[in-house]
Amino acid sequence: MISRWTTAVLDTNQPGGWAVARSPEGFLFDDNGALFSREWLKRQDLSILAEHGIGHLDGEPVYLLELLSHSDVPGCNWKGLRAFMLEGDHTVFKVLGYAAQIGTWAREHRFCGNCGQAMTQVTRERAMYCEPCDLRSYPRISPSMIVLVTRGDEVLLARSPRFVTGIYSTLAGFAEPGESAEDCLIREVREEVQIEVKNIQYMGSQCWPFPHSMMLGFHAEYAGGEIVCQEDEIEDAQWFNVRDLPPLPAARSIARYLIDVYVARRSGHAEPVLPG
Ligand SMILES: [Zn+2]
Repeated sequence: MISRWTTAVLDTNQPGGWAVARSPEGFLFDDNGALFSREWLKRQDLSILAEHGIGHLDGEPVYLLELLSHSDVPGCNWKGLRAFMLEGDHTVFKVLGYAAQIGTWAREHRFCGNCGQAMTQVTRERAMYCEPCDLRSYPRISPSMIVLVTRGDEVLLARSPRFVTGIYSTLAGFAEPGESAEDCLIREVREEVQIEVKNIQYMGSQCWPFPHSMMLGFHAEYAGGEIVCQEDEIEDAQWFNVRDLPPLPAARSIARYLIDVYVARRSGHAEPVLPG
């Protein structure tokens, strides 16, 4: 049973450890999962774009091999991050979620955004460096607000055309430059369903590695307006009674946590804990 994962910047010149391999087709896995002996993995025929030491799993160093493309490895297959979230061990998902964010950043910052020259990997710091420009690029985090709008025993849930059939969830959107978290939340709710909110309460946050969001979760009370769905973004939005809810998002998501907490409060049950 894997239990403890901590992120770290590791020296890739050190031997040993575990490694995960990530290509545009997802992560490499076999019957034992997505973690391989790093030395074994590096003996396979892989098109390695970058290697990063990403942390420690139960004390053992873990490295990411970010690949240009996927290749056939005997006894192995490739699978996307979402599948690991839905099926796998939560700690392994955290390792892979972090690896995916570092991999995306490493892939997108091979060249300097200012002068176009190749950037180099900084040791002991998670950064890429362009010497002529003295420019450092760090992994990007995109703050995103996610909100459950409430009205007594009712909650406002909506469907995006991108959702799995039947699923209804909370509203969410990315912060724009110049906005506070509260500004963003009010704007998103207004844009998506033309509802006004009040009494915004922060509930918790969750890293969402698709591809690099930091979800800040809130409850907000209904203050006025009638639901009008934003064209192309919201397929349907409704008020649902907490005792008669539609199919909801996956249990480990902050969206589900925001809903479950509110339902627990209205029905006097113990509140759930947000998965770390
Ligand atoms: Zn440059």
